[in-house]
Amino acid sequence: MQTDFQTVDQARQSILAQLMPISGTRTVAIRDALDQVLAFDVLSPINVPAHDNSAMDGYAFNSSCLQSGAITSLKLVGTAYAGKVFSGQCGQGECVRIMTGAVMPAHCDTVLIQENATVNGDTISFPPGAVKAGDNRRLAGEDLTVGKAALPAGKVLRPADLGLLASLGVAEITVRRKLRVAFFSTGDELRSLGQALDQGCVYDSNRYTLFGMLTRLRFIELLDMGVVRDSPEALEQAMLQAIEQADVIITSGGVSVGEADYTKEVMEKLGSVNFWKIAMRPGRPMAFGQVHNKANGDSAFLFGLPGNPVAVMVTFYAFVRDALFKLTNAKALPVPMVSAKLVQGLRKRPGRTEYQRARLVMENGVLTAHLTGAQGSGILRSMSESDGLLVLEHAQGDLNAGDTVLALPFEGLI
Ligand code: AMP
Ligand code: MG
Repeated sequence: MQTDFQTVDQARQSILAQLMPISGTRTVAIRDALDQVLAFDVLSPINVPAHDNSAMDGYAFNSSCLQSGAITSLKLVGTAYAGKVFSGQCGQGECVRIMTGAVMPAHCDTVLIQENATVNGDTISFPPGAVKAGDNRRLAGEDLTVGKAALPAGKVLRPADLGLLASLGVAEITVRRKLRVAFFSTGDELRSLGQALDQGCVYDSNRYTLFGMLTRLRFIELLDMGVVRDSPEALEQAMLQAIEQADVIITSGGVSVGEADYTKEVMEKLGSVNFWKIAMRPGRPMAFGQVHNKANGDSAFLFGLPGNPVAVMVTFYAFVRDALFKLTNAKALPVPMVSAKLVQGLRKRPGRTEYQRARLVMENGVLTAHLTGAQGSGILRSMSESDGLLVLEHAQGDLNAGDTVLALPFEGLI
């Protein structure tokens, strides 16, 4: 067995370097593409907007009519509505009433907003400075030019992207097939919900936090394999089933040094798995590698996360999240780090990355961090009460009240 000591950054780099993204795509209606990973660049088939049009309700005219230093008066010759083109002539000294989104009449390049116009019968007048040449006109193709990349391959599609695709007239789109992730918990002390809690046993909570975190990555297909007993046969069977059905296997428990269970043994037997001690808290022990079914050549990437409930979440965010993006050929969504001011001092040992749970509260325009009580790696309550994790870097020492720290909020914009 190989035991490595790693910093968080080294472990993250090492994992990312070993991953091989999946292949395979599927074509879906754009509504079903939300949060999925775009498989190819989308080139714009049209100009958006297709025509020069008005950005405001007002009067369109040719800017050569503008009088400098004097009132400009124009004769009203018609109306252009959105979706209804003005097809008449608008000559010198003339203007067309125009609505937002209406195609600019031929020869018109400027729109006076209606609030700046004085209307007298069919004469429209306005003072100098009310409008400049080219004002309030949207140019054809200013949003997207025909033939140019509108969306890059690898993008995780957000609401704006669905709208953008629709604006191009695209109804269906090719995305990556879903990444199949199998997960199970290990430990003889674990009981599933609905079972009696025998003496010395705990309910299996890790499968629920993992379910929650994985479900939010909507490009993933989940395979919940339950609790697997600490027996070599049960573990090997579970692992082989997971290799067959999934691209990635996530387990929790049984990876710390000196464990009396068989997880490590089975992982080693089935593949090339490294057991790491990572300089972090919580989350020190972790296994990562590839496991194989030697009979048929199938393989899967394996993350053997620690058993402690908070450590599972922290190692997921620190290592697994970005790996899942990479495996799906996706550009990882940025991690929304923020700066926050500590309301209390805290102890931090240099030489390891620490993650502490905190509420993040805006106070007088400053984001402040309040620790959420006991920080033990088994205490989920402080995780549940927190808004995010304070990320205290490897070399950082103790901190004082008023110091600024980096925080990783759990929630972003929907
Ligand atoms: P381990 O890494 O297997 O030594 O587990 C470390 C601690 O986490 C032990 O106290 C386990 O009981 C606990 N633990 C392991 N797996 C789970 C789980 N799925 N749900 C809740 N607690 C767990
Ligand atoms: Mg265990």
